[in-house]
Amino acid sequence: MLSLDTRAVHAGEPEPRIEGAVSLPIFQTATYTHTDEEEVRYIRYNDSPNHEALHQKLSSLAATDAALVTGSGMAAISSALLALLDSGDHLVAPRALYGGTLDLFGDLLPRYDISHSFLGGNPSTWSDALTDDTQVLYAESITNPLLEVPDLEAMAAFADDNDLVAVIDSTFASPVNLRPADLGFDVVLHSGTKYLAGHSDLAAGVVAGPADVLDRIGHTLKLLGGMLDPHACFLLHRSLKTLGVRVRQQNQTAQTVAEALDAHGAVGRVRYPGLAQHPDHERAQTLLDGFGGMVSFNLGDAVDRTAFFDALSLPIRAPSLGGVETLVSQPVNTSHVNMAPAEREALGITDRFVRLSVGLEGADDLVADLTSALDTAR
Ligand code: PLP
Repeated sequence: MLSLDTRAVHAGEPEPRIEGAVSLPIFQTATYTHTDEEEVRYIRYNDSPNHEALHQKLSSLAATDAALVTGSGMAAISSALLALLDSGDHLVAPRALYGGTLDLFGDLLPRYDISHSFLGGNPSTWSDALTDDTQVLYAESITNPLLEVPDLEAMAAFADDNDLVAVIDSTFASPVNLRPADLGFDVVLHSGTKYLAGHSDLAAGVVAGPADVLDRIGHTLKLLGGMLDPHACFLLHRSLKTLGVRVRQQNQTAQTVAEALDAHGAVGRVRYPGLAQHPDHERAQTLLDGFGGMVSFNLGDAVDRTAFFDALSLPIRAPSLGGVETLVSQPVNTSHVNMAPAEREALGITDRFVRLSVGLEGADDLVADLTSALDTAR
């Protein structure tokens, strides 16, 4: 098989190239004239040449039969779950999930009589969470913001043993660091807004999996209307061609930044799967091709939090992740703002907990900037 980098550039490109264009042009049209009544094309059906090329490129990167793009990561998650679950059904998932997904489970799905239970850390207890109506196991490959790497092989096997559809949000790993379909996950989701788009300039989502399952999800997506606009398709398509080089560089810079933070006296615990002391380091080494671009850490007690953020000049204070600019945020104000404070504290997500999405700046410049901000603030 061709390498991921080669597939990122060439998979799904139209042959022959349309009008000879090396870069696929944008088909910014809502509808298409047709002579055959069976062949109706319409923008909400996600079926322009831009969509079709992207679907093939993404399924090649995800190592699945098929893929489809959506208007955001949440559109991918909600369309997939609403397609896979009927009223009365139940799903199981570890508790460490993106906040929007937790809100979907807690606020929206119950209105359609779809319930959920959380899985504990020990696989031997997972069966306790099952009911006669459990249909889906849902997980994330690297969790936000604690950057845990769950026992994904055990989860896929558990789903298989219990006839559950195994669904995974692999946004944090990206297809460069992990292809969950190879581990046995049936449906792979991404927020394309993050590493896949990579420039913090668009919203998109991806659903990848077997063709028959994707047909069901595609039908629900059509009804919910969460398609991706052709212009955003064009930008996402362009970004995917550089996915490998971007993510590998981000992996490398994040490792350097994590080690430098770990060595700094004003920093408490650093969480990065590439550090030997990370509780899931060994599993991450086995499962992942790279440890990712996300680093979380605690400011030590001696650091004045406001002074630290004010002193940073390269990282930009903003939510989201995966772009070329390094972003810094505090999950207590962003992804986990809706979690009960006691629950947040128990997880270690305090107001001294900081999440970094490492971008493409020089590693030495980032380390110098972070170090100098820490020194100024203590
Ligand atoms: N999944 C994860 C892990 C995320 O971090 C996010 C957003 O931060 C989403 C899904 C939702 O993606 P979007 O904002 O593209 O809807």
